[in-house]
Amino acid sequence: MQLTRISIIGGGIGGLSAALSLQHFGYRVSVFEQARELREIGAGVAISPNAMHALNFLGVGERVTREAGPAERYLMRHFQTGAVINTRWTGPDYFERFGASYHQVHRADLHATLAAAVLRNDPDCIFLDHRFETLRQDHKHVVATFANGKTCTSDVLVGCDGGASKVRTCLFGDEAVNYTGKVAFRALLPIANVPAGIMKIPYAMFVGVNRNLLHYPLRHRTMLNVVCFAREPNWQEEGWMIPATIDECVRLHDDFHQDVLDLIRAVTPGTLFKWGLRDREPLQQYTKGRVTVLGDAAHPMTPFLGQGACIAIEDAMVLGRAFAVAGTFEEAFGIYENTRKERANGVQLASRQQADEVQGATERGPNPGAGAELRGLYSYNPVTVPLAPAGDMTPV
Ligand SMILES: Cc1cc2nc3c(=O)[nH]c(=O)nc-3n(C[C@H](O)[C@H](O)[C@H](O)COP(=O)(O)OP(=O)(O)OC[C@H]3O[C@@H](n4cnc5c(N)ncnc54)[C@H](O)[C@@H]3O)c2cc1C
Repeated sequence: MQLTRISIIGGGIGGLSAALSLQHFGYRVSVFEQARELREIGAGVAISPNAMHALNFLGVGERVTREAGPAERYLMRHFQTGAVINTRWTGPDYFERFGASYHQVHRADLHATLAAAVLRNDPDCIFLDHRFETLRQDHKHVVATFANGKTCTSDVLVGCDGGASKVRTCLFGDEAVNYTGKVAFRALLPIANVPAGIMKIPYAMFVGVNRNLLHYPLRHRTMLNVVCFAREPNWQEEGWMIPATIDECVRLHDDFHQDVLDLIRAVTPGTLFKWGLRDREPLQQYTKGRVTVLGDAAHPMTPFLGQGACIAIEDAMVLGRAFAVAGTFEEAFGIYENTRKERANGVQLASRQQADEVQGATERGPNPGAGAELRGLYSYNPVTVPLAPAGDMTPV
């Protein structure tokens, strides 16, 4: 296909994966990121076999695997007694079952690995301090405008600008967004600061009605990733960098096992962050003319299945494959959207369902929910999944 200019808005996990995939299939891309430096938040991210297939294919799986270290099964524990109520395998046998492994990775490591690979292909393709504001498109091209006053003209544009995507708003207008009444907290602790009670079972999720807390080691057990979800009826901001206090987190978990309270109190003040979880309805279409959306911009999902980044990586793999086989950009976007929409929107809805399950209760008490593996999500391979026909796409 004769396309010379592909713009990607957003240099997160989705945008960089899309850049790498398109580069792999011979396309030149420009990535526009609002931040002044290329970096990720300090937190863990679980990369399951469905996404590892793509990372392996794109040549970065080995480094991600090396930096993450092996993953272990984690135990679901009763929030008050600490008793083990279930086991989640994240295990060594995944390679045989799914053809790829499972890793818990520091987000910064995954992000840096993707960025290095993209820049190796083209050292000048990432533009920092470019906050996308708006776009216009016609039958010849699409023009993006940035807050720094610059513009960029390209043949097509891919919006990878996250859950509160401005590209999505430009295409489809402001959609309804609900604060779910759920607030999430995250922290990273040096392993030396982690209370001994937690280190006895370092991979675990404490499951309680309306609340759950997950922790697992990162970087070869040198730090512990902690994420917890609670109910907070007061409106909470969206965004992953909102400072939280230890006291407010303790208050929301004050009936949890003493080990959990000790863990929250061990977090260094100033390193605990929170955000309010939004839930948006799935998009009926991802593409309009020369512009499409990918990752959280296309299907923002609550984090209860730990699949948002994995699904963004799947999207990126399929987008590259679509451009590799299509004769026109319309066909490429049609193949991408038709191959991805059912899968990605389905996971978006399943994440909502998982939130209700895991934060609900059964007659037997707290409920571990089905989880991503039991829902069959790991069996998808974006490198080999058959591509859907393009169909008719919405013109410019
Ligand atoms: C605590 C937590 C735990 C999670 N755990 C997991 C997990 O275990 N496994 C998993 O698969 N997923 C997980 N997720 C979800 C996952 O992190 C997201 O789904 C993933 O980051 C989506 O990637 P993205 O690139 O689409 O969006 P983002 O990561 O949000 O990246 C968007 C990028 O676009 C940039 N940007 C935004 N607006 C503009 C603009 N106007 N102009 C230019 N640039 C812009 C941003 O700065 C950012 O770099 C978790 C999420 C959270 C919050």
